[in-house]
Amino acid sequence: MNQEFSEILADVKEQILYLQELGVENLDVELTDIPDFKFQTSMPAPKPEISPEKIERFVPTEEILKKTSEPPKVSHIEQNRTRRSLLESTKLSRLPSIPKRDSLFTNNLEQRGKPEMPKQKTVEAEDLSQSLFGDISQTLPESKETIEEIRADIGNCTRCPLHEGRTKIVHTTGNFNADLLFVGEAPGANEDAEGVPFVGRAGQLLNKIIEAIGLKREDVLVGNINRCRPPGNRTPTLPEAHTCRPFLIREIAVVRPKVIVVLGNTACQNLLDTKIGITKLRGNFQDYYGVKVMPTFHPAYLLRDPSKKRETWEDMKKVRDYLNSLK
Ligand code: URA
Repeated sequence: MNQEFSEILADVKEQILYLQELGVENLDVELTDIPDFKFQTSMPAPKPEISPEKIERFVPTEEILKKTSEPPKVSHIEQNRTRRSLLESTKLSRLPSIPKRDSLFTNNLEQRGKPEMPKQKTVEAEDLSQSLFGDISQTLPESKETIEEIRADIGNCTRCPLHEGRTKIVHTTGNFNADLLFVGEAPGANEDAEGVPFVGRAGQLLNKIIEAIGLKREDVLVGNINRCRPPGNRTPTLPEAHTCRPFLIREIAVVRPKVIVVLGNTACQNLLDTKIGITKLRGNFQDYYGVKVMPTFHPAYLLRDPSKKRETWEDMKKVRDYLNSLK
């Protein structure tokens, strides 16, 4: 009992430290409110139990879902609808006149060796009884290409109008063996100048968020839906996002992260191909071809409204705990 109590106190302390670190003001509790014996925990907190079933395929069946306390918030219909429209939008991104094909990854039919997405099943109402996460065969296909090949394909890109105003293309950067990928919207002024994602103020806060879950920036991969800075930092248009997105998706198929954190509406809506807003989706793992996706607020939004840092911390704890459960 004492042990459990100590661990709870240690957890509370950790959260207070994190919130202070992130600059959350008017906390109702101070570190000094926590009694001294809180640090006498002699044993590490037990790892959350994870069944072999869950390890093998973390897209849970309905049976597994019944056992979990948090049902997914996105319905089967929504999941499949967004997947179908993602396929459509992606394959139309560069070659609108070419007949439809089931490839999420290519925007160039001449390319060889690119992974093919499994055929999408038409979803009828009765399918809902099968699994809340849809067809569990929908996993990321094997990629036969390398990050270097994807970069070479991007080249000195002029596929969308954003190239006109850019200084540097801002590619996905970091550890390409990472379990964790962060996806933002598009570069800002600092990123455009340096050619590296998330190096400005929002990037500094993102670094703190990464460190708060026990990782370093070098441990993770960071990218954006769009690689060129939109003029005046406006939101990329849908065609702009759909032109650039396939490159990120191809990188995801190469890297195969365990978790993708989508930062803000643009990243969330474009990766999951949904119109549902971040406020509704944040905090609940979504599925992207078998990869867990955690939508959370964009760090730039947190800079404008620091009170939202609490929710982001809750979301990131889920990411941390899930990644730890895989160890
Ligand atoms: N905001 C983003 O979405 N991406 C960056 O790289 C920087 C700021």
